[in-house]
Amino acid sequence: MTKKTNSFEVIIIGGSYAGLSAAMALGRSMRKVLVIDNNLPCNRQTPFSHNFLTQDGQTPASIHLLAKEQVAKYETVQFLNGTAVAAKNEGNAFLIKTDLGKSYAAAKLIFATGVKDLLPEWESFDSCWGISILHCPYCHGYEVSNKKTGLLANGDPGFEFAGLLRNWTADLTILTNGRSSFSKEQQILLATHQIPVIDLEIKGITASQGQIREIHFENGTVFEPDVLYYRPPFEQSCSLPAQLGCGINPDGYILTDAFQKTTIKGVYACGDNSSRIRTVSHAIAMGTVAGLSLNRELTDESFLPAVPV
Ligand SMILES: Cc1cc2nc3c(=O)[nH]c(=O)nc-3n(C[C@H](O)[C@H](O)[C@H](O)COP(=O)(O)OP(=O)(O)OC[C@H]3O[C@@H](n4cnc5c(N)ncnc54)[C@H](O)[C@@H]3O)c2cc1C
Repeated sequence: MTKKTNSFEVIIIGGSYAGLSAAMALGRSMRKVLVIDNNLPCNRQTPFSHNFLTQDGQTPASIHLLAKEQVAKYETVQFLNGTAVAAKNEGNAFLIKTDLGKSYAAAKLIFATGVKDLLPEWESFDSCWGISILHCPYCHGYEVSNKKTGLLANGDPGFEFAGLLRNWTADLTILTNGRSSFSKEQQILLATHQIPVIDLEIKGITASQGQIREIHFENGTVFEPDVLYYRPPFEQSCSLPAQLGCGINPDGYILTDAFQKTTIKGVYACGDNSSRIRTVSHAIAMGTVAGLSLNRELTDESFLPAVPV
C-alpha cells in the first residue's frame, strides 16, 4: 500500500484477471479503489494460457503482470497483498478485515475471488493439473489434439464431455473409476464413436515433472495416456460473499444479474466465482461489466435526488 488511508469507494477482493479488469474500469472512472489479493489464481500451474486474443500462448503470470502494471498507472487504485478474512455490512459501509489484522471500509464491494478446484487425492495428480491433466479443450485441446487421451468422468456429464472432446481427438478413452453409469443409449453411441469405457477403480497415477505417465487400476492393469481431461468439483475460494448473505445458486456460483450485481445491494461478483464459462477473456469481460455498473451505481447515488423531485 502506498498511501495511508483505510477508507475507499470500492474494495475489490481478488486481484487476478476479473479483479484487475474491474479495477481498470474504476480507476479510469477516478474511483478510490483498494484491490486485496493473495496471489493464488487457479491457472497458476499451467505453463501457457490460450484462447485470448493478443495474449495467446503467454504465461498466466505474464498476462497478470502486464495487467497489474497497466492498472497501477491509475493513481486512485491501491493494492494490498493479503487475504480478506472477514466482511461486515455496517449500513452504508462494508468493513473488510485482512489476515494482517487491519480493517478497511468501502461503500461498495466487488468479489473477484475465483473458485478452488477440488482435485482427487491420488499422489501426483495435483502436480499434473493444468499441464497434462486438463479441464478445458478450448484452453489446451489444440496443443494435445489427436494424442492418446483419457477422460476421467461418468454418467451424463461424462457423456456430454466425451462428445465435445471427440472434436479434438480420435483416440479417446473414458475412465469411470468404478461402475459405469452411462445409459444403454449412451453406451451404444460411445461404441459407435469408438470411445472405449474402462470401468475399473483407479488405484493411483504416476507422473514426472507434471506429465502424467500411467494410470494404475485396482486389478493391476495400467492405462498410459498422453493427456487426461477432468472437470473437478469446486468450492468458492472465499466464504465472505456467503457470509454477507449473497445468494449462491445450486451449482455453487454466486448469483449475479447481467450487471454483475449480487443479491446484496452494493456487492458485485465477477469471474469464475459467478460463471460456468471459465476463461481468462470471459473473466476480464465480467470484470469490465462489474466496474462499469458499479461506477454507474455510484454516479446515480451522487447525481440523482434521494427523494424524486
Ligand atoms: C489449470 C487451469 C488452466 C487454465 N487455462 C486457461 C487458458 O489456457 N485460457 C483461458 O482463457 N483460461 C484458462 N483457465 C481459466 C482461467 O484461468 C480462469 O477463468 C481465470 O483465472 C478466472 O479469473 P478470476 O479472476 O475470476 O479468478 P482467479 O484467476 O482464480 O483469481 C482469483 C484471485 O482471487 C484471490 N483471492 C481469493 N480469495 C481471496 C481472499 N479472501 N482475499 C484475497 N484474495 C483472494 C486469489 O488469490 C486469486 O488471485 C484455466 C484454468 C485452470 C484451472
